[in-house]
Amino acid sequence: MKIKKRRYFINEYFINIIVIFAIILISIFFLLVPKISINSPLKEIVNIDSHYSDNGITISNILGNKTTMKPLYDINTKKDRTYNINYTYKDNIFTYHIPKEITVKDIEKPTIKLKGDRIEYYCPNKEYKELGYSAYDNVDKDITSKVKVERLKNKIIYSVIDSSGNKREVIRKIVAKDKEKPTIKLNGEDNIFLGINDIYIEENVVVSDNCDLDISNKVEIINNIDTTKVGDYKVIYKVKDTSNNESELIRNVKVRDTLKPNTIYLTFDDGPRDGTTDVILDILKEKGVKATFFVTMNGSDSLIKRIVDEGHSIGIHTASHRYDIIYASVDNYFNDLEQVKDRIYNISGVETKLVRFPGGSSNTISKKYKEGIMTTLVNDILNKGYQYYDWNVDSGDASFATNPTKLYNSVINSISHDKYNVILMHDTKTYTRDALSKIIDYSLTNGYSFDSIDIDTMLVRQRLNN
Ligand code: ZN
Repeated sequence: MKIKKRRYFINEYFINIIVIFAIILISIFFLLVPKISINSPLKEIVNIDSHYSDNGITISNILGNKTTMKPLYDINTKKDRTYNINYTYKDNIFTYHIPKEITVKDIEKPTIKLKGDRIEYYCPNKEYKELGYSAYDNVDKDITSKVKVERLKNKIIYSVIDSSGNKREVIRKIVAKDKEKPTIKLNGEDNIFLGINDIYIEENVVVSDNCDLDISNKVEIINNIDTTKVGDYKVIYKVKDTSNNESELIRNVKVRDTLKPNTIYLTFDDGPRDGTTDVILDILKEKGVKATFFVTMNGSDSLIKRIVDEGHSIGIHTASHRYDIIYASVDNYFNDLEQVKDRIYNISGVETKLVRFPGGSSNTISKKYKEGIMTTLVNDILNKGYQYYDWNVDSGDASFATNPTKLYNSVINSISHDKYNVILMHDTKTYTRDALSKIIDYSLTNGYSFDSIDIDTMLVRQRLNN
């Protein structure tokens, strides 16, 4: 009994010790086993040709030290292949293997590009005509020829499958409806000047439509022109296609009093110039005469300011005055024009619409730099809201009339009582400055009056030669 009791005591004590010891051992074991975290999925699919970078595994030990390991395998993403690799980690006791599977394959869908829109309208009186498409794949490249086109009522389904089985489908909706307006274009000029009792000749419009064959008989013209009265009139052109899309266009017709003879418009080009323009302005002020200055980038800003402040008209001549530049292209011409326009605006606040072409609209020199440019420029100028002014009296101050007497004689022999006299002069010339007083005196005592040009002034235009 005593022995039994003692054995029992020993057994119980011994088991307790073993259990505690085992717990300690297991704990030590778990503490020694490093903690491994995997930074990317163990099964990965990588698109062909893409850049692949493995984030590896991170091992942290009991002391908190971390090591990141990456597999030493070289993954070639240029080819389809499955890589079975291992992350391997060895410590003092164990070696750990963690398997990973990386599959390189084409998982990218091809693309389909449609010509036209996803919703396409077509003429109700015609069949829908395929606008075209193209298909491209990252691996197979151009696979347009593999595209299948299927029509389901008002849908067109385009589908294509690449060599790896990736499928792309694109749908276009087609609607039998004419949404496009007819096109309408004026025959003749946008802006027409007429004298009192002149006859307005209707030059009509040219129209066409995307669906209707001929709509020229559907043009409606509304016109309120009364050439017996000075005024601004409009001719309105309207045209509708069979789907009721309407286009409209306006032609401006200005009726001006041409029966007002005896008027002289003094126009000065190429300035301003210090020493001449200022004296010319003094003379005009003294005589109470208004004139028109087509300016450049030359001369003091204060002269531009004086021209405007003293009630004269100001217009654009040119910045460079170089025919080889401004008449070489439409862009060149307008870039040059903008500079002068900005100068005038910045100094005086006037947004002028008056223009005089260097050499006049009839110049032939421009032909040397670009065939037909004057015809284009004249149209563009008018479409941008400018108005250009030529002359019907050349004072000769840029050619033969090189002293005040010659210039005076030239002008008084050229002006006439039965027309508008738009005189070309240059405020850069000293003899023009010196002859001006006498020219004005002669004109005033002989029944002429002076005026400056504005946007509504009856035009004197030369015949285009290029
Ligand atoms: Zn000039």
